[in-house]
Amino acid sequence: MGFKNITVAGSGVLGSQIAFQTAFKGFGVNVYDINSEAIEKSKATITKLKERYKTDLGATQEEVDIAFDRITYFTELDKSVEVTDLVIEAIPEVVKIKTEFYEKLGKAAPDHTIFATNSSTLLPSQFAEATGRPAKFLALHFANEIWLNNTAEIMKHEGTDESVFHQVTEFAKQIGMIALPLHKEQPGYILNSLLVPFLDAAQMLLAKEIADVETIDKTWMAATGSPKGPFAILDIVGITTAYNIVNAKAEQTGDEIAEKVAHLLKTEYIDKGKLGTATGEGFYKY
Ligand code: NAD
Repeated sequence: MGFKNITVAGSGVLGSQIAFQTAFKGFGVNVYDINSEAIEKSKATITKLKERYKTDLGATQEEVDIAFDRITYFTELDKSVEVTDLVIEAIPEVVKIKTEFYEKLGKAAPDHTIFATNSSTLLPSQFAEATGRPAKFLALHFANEIWLNNTAEIMKHEGTDESVFHQVTEFAKQIGMIALPLHKEQPGYILNSLLVPFLDAAQMLLAKEIADVETIDKTWMAATGSPKGPFAILDIVGITTAYNIVNAKAEQTGDEIAEKVAHLLKTEYIDKGKLGTATGEGFYKY
């Protein structure tokens, strides 16, 4: 039995993308946010997404218009979930905000409704109790620019019902995602469990002056057939994010190499306005 009606809670960067992708694939979508200002912002974001779907995917005007019309907007949680089968939560990455949201949602939604969190760094077990329905709760994690980077990591917590896990995995496929099931909880899911240590290692090689940026990237690309090396990826992630991660590690552990990497990123890149692709220059010029 598939889902029919989907509610996306939180209509920021990811919520707007999830809502439009889901509508584009034929589902009725309710979007819930806290006030009309947030809703207006989301409508503007989704209007821009229509153009991206046309240029990036070759969608027709009619297709994006139909998808747009499948979305209904709400500022009252109760109404937004009245007949919904699945709520996808994409609200701020703050434990208190999410916990309070799930307490309200658990009371407002029908008993059969499944809840999924799009959280990047928090684990579903942190909120399972607050939902009041731990067996019907799990993580469904999308990537930014969902229509192009179409991965969906579906992650259970210990109490998630197997059939719920299966239904959400099927739903992810129905909305055009590459469904990536994780059978146990893992901070960072699969992608960041692989990517973060990889990017750390590249920055360590640079800070220790073992090799330069181009040589490190060239090694990775030539040896593995990858289209991008670690520094090209770091330019996309953004050097500020990379700095925040390594600086926190340096402060927490006093690790000498982490301190060296943080110093290098700050003085050679951030202070010079080289923040990555977003500013036109990072490790490379764009
Ligand atoms: P965002 O700040 O762009 O959007 C958050 C939205 O939630 C806003 O519209 C805000 O008004 C709304 N909101 C705040 N409190 C709320 C509440 N109590 N109830 C309902 N809505 C509320 O954030 P984002 O970047 O879209 O991230 C949302 C979630 O998605 C986070 O958990 C984040 O980790 C995850 N995520 C983000 C990305 C990304 O690249 N931005 C990628 C994957 C996952």
